[in-house]
Amino acid sequence: MYVTTQGLVLRVCPYNDSDAMLTILTAKLGRVLAKVRGLRRKNSPMSAPCQLLALAEFTLFEYKDSYTVNEAHSVELFTPLRRDLQKLSLGTYFAQAAEIIAQEDMPNPELLSLILNSLYALSQMDMPEEKIKAVVELRLACLAGYTPDLYGCHSCGEPTPECFDISEGRLECARCRSGISGGIRMPVSAGILDAMRYICACHPKKLFSFDLPIESMQQLSSITEAYLCAQLERGFSTLDFYKSLFYQPL
Ligand SMILES: [Zn+2]
Repeated sequence: MYVTTQGLVLRVCPYNDSDAMLTILTAKLGRVLAKVRGLRRKNSPMSAPCQLLALAEFTLFEYKDSYTVNEAHSVELFTPLRRDLQKLSLGTYFAQAAEIIAQEDMPNPELLSLILNSLYALSQMDMPEEKIKAVVELRLACLAGYTPDLYGCHSCGEPTPECFDISEGRLECARCRSGISGGIRMPVSAGILDAMRYICACHPKKLFSFDLPIESMQQLSSITEAYLCAQLERGFSTLDFYKSLFYQPL
């Protein structure tokens, strides 16, 4: 049976001598594992649409629960991203995180749109990487079912508490801080808290319509990163690589 669907390539793995196995986030089928014959041969016509972070129109052939890419045509290759190792590695982190959250046979249009909008922003828009990263991490956490409780201090209701409890996903003021709970807390300013509330609640087309001074954007990005990793209970090799690119040893 043939299925035609748009999809974003999240991962490319070598397979057999000259084939490759792609993980594709598709519009119609959710996450799909699909074999591409001859992709690793020189001059394969599939090489552009089947590369990492390519958005393409795929015709997939399904047989006995496994897929083969029959045809693929590039829709968007995010070319400027590929000329900048730092941006490319951040995009690869988004792909790895999306792969973990996406499910097979379950289309997730919000997830696909989040990753595509973020790759577009990384590739074409002049905004801090920390901002795009923070939006992706916090929205991914929400899409995975871990929407944080940002109304106010979870204990007394104070609307602008000083801390965000990463493991519990809730706010806490210094007065109410319980010495018993061993959770990790990170300080949040009123501006960062407003940004977090905005990211969790905004329309998918308005994801980047907020602003913060760059230092606060960096703090926001540290908070969303710690939150996503804590909620998914894992780290990301792609994130480690991204951070290694600008880590300055003392
Ligand atoms: Zn309180």
